[in-house]
Amino acid sequence: MADLLIRGGTVVDATGSRVADVLVRGGRIVEVAEGIDVPTGKKARTLDAGGCLVAPGLVDLHAHLRQPGREEAETVETASRAAALGGYTAVVAMPNTDPAIDSAGVVREVLELGRDALCRVAVAGAITVGRNGQRLAPIGEMAALGVRLFTDDGAGVQDGRLMRRALEYASAFPGVRLAQHCEDASLATGGHMHEGEWSSRLGIPGIPAEAEDVMVMRDIALCRLTGAPVHFLHLSTAGSVELVRRAKAAGLAVTAEAAPHHLVLTDAECASYDPVFKVNPPLRSPADVDAVRAGCADGSIDAIATDHAPHELELKEQAFDEAPPGMLGLETALPLALEALGAVGMAPADVLALMSWRPAAIAGLDALGQGGPIAAGAVANLCVVDPDAAWVVDPLRLASLSRNTPYAGRKVIGRSRHTILAGEPVVVDAEAQR
Ligand SMILES: [Zn+2]
Repeated sequence: MADLLIRGGTVVDATGSRVADVLVRGGRIVEVAEGIDVPTGKKARTLDAGGCLVAPGLVDLHAHLRQPGREEAETVETASRAAALGGYTAVVAMPNTDPAIDSAGVVREVLELGRDALCRVAVAGAITVGRNGQRLAPIGEMAALGVRLFTDDGAGVQDGRLMRRALEYASAFPGVRLAQHCEDASLATGGHMHEGEWSSRLGIPGIPAEAEDVMVMRDIALCRLTGAPVHFLHLSTAGSVELVRRAKAAGLAVTAEAAPHHLVLTDAECASYDPVFKVNPPLRSPADVDAVRAGCADGSIDAIATDHAPHELELKEQAFDEAPPGMLGLETALPLALEALGAVGMAPADVLALMSWRPAAIAGLDALGQGGPIAAGAVANLCVVDPDAAWVVDPLRLASLSRNTPYAGRKVIGRSRHTILAGEPVVVDAEAQR
């Protein structure tokens, strides 16, 4: 592989920002300095980064790749292509596949599918066998294969005693963290959107914010009881953000993520009865959106995670109360996060922290060369972001196999221009290279 020179950008990572070129050789960064010249006679490919931020590649803690079992909606190949185009160099595959990722065998299968993908594919394992909430899954054997996050995502672990045992068991494995889909089923079952003024006006059964709040509350208590770290998936309510804020202030080992759609869309969108706006947790009130943004700005929320959830057209064309929840996220997360968090005063580099180095640390991917820092010797997993590029979301041009984006026709600002995976430019000028 020829040398790669990323020229003319502003390098940003956890250590700060500086104007510098980045020289990559043999998959690794060899030099970060102003005005690097390639020695004459040496072959180098140059990527223009003028006006751009050169950042560690984005890391998604929460993507539904749908394989094995639902290859008509998405595959590891198509999702990782979408991810690379979105600026990601790593995604964590959620375990609600068919079969569920609840054993070493299925972990191996998904890791194998991701081996030559356009981004690194890490795997989250299930907490319970079949994600049924009954019996603990073999967390140890999955951890031995490098799995660091465990979740029954799609459902929360309802039984408090079982969740306590899972946390105690997981504590035996260094770096392992349980992640909760915070939803009390007894409060949420039968609901299809946020419970509030809009749900009563539209006659669609609601899911109260409290269904999320009570499980966050319980798991904060279990974190205190066991000392084991807990990660909260896709926080969507003002109540749960405040609970996490207080738990962190009390020194508890909790982390949290939010999804881009909970930063930019409200339950009012459901007035169209278009199931493209159906998602779980549901789109909430404007006050909740403000609270989630504030949580990102003050560090209560550690990461932006896409909750990329592809669905075939037939499924999303059903009536609102019959369609499955979920929307695409990988190719639109960056501009939406820049827009929503820019509105509360966050600089692009601070938004990149929530999309790269902080999630990399939560998933243990920092030890595998994800999330920077951008320095000589590090693996070259990078994205080059043009924060001013304006473009219009066209569902037909997305790399994902599915089309369920709520942002069709939306003008967004900010784009990942180049993505470099272990030194290989897999996306150049927003085009996949293989
Ligand atoms: Zn979930």
